[in-house]
Amino acid sequence: MSDYERQRKRHLARALTLAPDLIERLEWSADQLAVHRVQRLRELVGYAIGGSPWHRERLAGVDVARLDEATLRALPPMTKTDLMAHFDKIVTDGRVTLDRVNAHLETVSTGSYLLDQYTAITSGGSSEQRGVFVYDWDGWATFWVGLFRYLLRAKWADPELASRPMVWGWVMAAHFTHATAALSRTFASSDSINLRFPVTLPTERIVAGLNEAQPDILVGYASALYVLSAEAEAGRLRIAPRKVLSSAEPLLPETRAAAERAWNVGVGNVWGTSEVGGTAIPCDHSGSHLGADLMIVEPVDEHGHPVAPGEPSAKVYLTNLYNHTMPLIRYEITDEITVLPQHCPCGSAMPCIGDIQGRLDDVFEYADRRVHPHVFRSALSQHAGIVEYQVHQTPHGAHIAIRPHGRVDLDQLRRELAEALHATGLESPNITLETVERLKRDDGPAKLKRFVPLANEDSQRTGRHTLAATI
Ligand SMILES: [Zn+2]
Repeated sequence: MSDYERQRKRHLARALTLAPDLIERLEWSADQLAVHRVQRLRELVGYAIGGSPWHRERLAGVDVARLDEATLRALPPMTKTDLMAHFDKIVTDGRVTLDRVNAHLETVSTGSYLLDQYTAITSGGSSEQRGVFVYDWDGWATFWVGLFRYLLRAKWADPELASRPMVWGWVMAAHFTHATAALSRTFASSDSINLRFPVTLPTERIVAGLNEAQPDILVGYASALYVLSAEAEAGRLRIAPRKVLSSAEPLLPETRAAAERAWNVGVGNVWGTSEVGGTAIPCDHSGSHLGADLMIVEPVDEHGHPVAPGEPSAKVYLTNLYNHTMPLIRYEITDEITVLPQHCPCGSAMPCIGDIQGRLDDVFEYADRRVHPHVFRSALSQHAGIVEYQVHQTPHGAHIAIRPHGRVDLDQLRRELAEALHATGLESPNITLETVERLKRDDGPAKLKRFVPLANEDSQRTGRHTLAATI
C-alpha cells in the first residue's frame, strides 16, 4: 500500500467517525441549528482574526463574543478576487501559499496531500475567475459527509443496500482538481463503487459504460442528464437508478421532467460549491436542504441587502463554519437562489431552496456531436495564468478570448483544446485563441456569458430562442 493510500484510508476512517454526528444534525430543530451556527461563527471569526493577517485587519474591532447572525451582516463581504489577490494572507497556515498550492495542483493526479494534511481544489463551475480552495483534514472529511449524509443514512437504513457496495455513476468532471473527482478518490471504499464517466467522452461511450455499470445512483451535470435521458427514452441507455442527482449546473424544469420520465425516480438537485461543499443537498423527498449546521447562507440582492424567503436573490454570501484553514466569511458567489418559505415534507428544519435557474452553461452542437462546456472548462482551468475566458463556438471548433495574468502557453493550450475536442469525435477541430485585456459582457457589467454557442449567436440575431440551444 502506498503512503497516499494509507493516508487516504485514515482520512476515510475519520470521515466515517464524523458521519453519525453530522447525520444526527439532519434531525435538529431550527433552534438547535441556530445556536450551533452562532457558536461556530464565533469560533471561526476568532480563529480568522488570530491566524489570518488579512482578516485581522478587516475585522479589527469586531466583538467576537457578541457576534451573531444579525451582527454578521455588518461585516464586510469578500469576493473571489479578494481571495486570489490576498491568498497567502487569508490562509491561516503560513506555509500554504498560492505558489505552493498551484505547484501542488500540477502534480495532484499522482495522488498526494499538500503538507501531508491539506486537500486543494480549483473551482470548476461557471464563475468567471479561477478560484483555488484549500481544506484541512477535518474540513475535507466534513465536506464529503456534508454532501453525502442523506445517502449514507439511506444506505445504512436499507438492509439490501447495507449488505453490498452502492454503485455510483458519475457523469461529471474528469480532473482530480475538481471537488467531485477529488472526493471520490479520497473517500473511495469497499462500501461504494465510484465509476466516473467524464462528460468529455463521446455520448455513446458514456451510455455503454453506464449500461455495464448499472449504477444505483446516477450523478451528472444537468446538461449531461438531459442528453442521457434522451438516450434512455431512445432505448439505448438501459439503467434503473434508485436516485438521480443533478449537480453543478442549473436544473431547468424541462431537464428535471425529462429525467423523471426516463427513469421514473425523483431527481435531486445538489447545489455544491467549492467554497462550502454541500451547500444544498436533496433529501429523500427531493427537497434541496441548505447545510444549515455547516455554513451560513445569506441570500442578498445586488446591493448586498438580505432578501426574504420566497424571493430570488441576486447573489449569496457564504460563510464556511467548518474549514478554519481558509476562513471564508461572507464570501460572495453570484448564484441566484430562492429559499423556500415552506418546510419540506421530510420534516427537516434545514430550509430548502428552489431549483437554481440562472447561469446555465451551454452545450455546443456540431453536426451530429454535442460537446459539453466542460471539455473547454477542464483544459482552461488547468492553466493558472488564466484569469477568465469566453468561448465562442465556430463552425468547426471555437474561438476563445482569454484574459491572462502572467504567462500562458498558448500553443500548448491550443493543442490541449484541439485534442480534447478531437476526443469527443470532432474531426480536425479548429481552435483560435486571443488574449484580451477585458472580456465583452453583453448583459451588463456583472454577468459574463462564458460559452456562446453558434445557435445562440444566430438566435440573438433573429430573436429565436430554442430549448436545444440553451440546454
Ligand atoms: Zn426534505
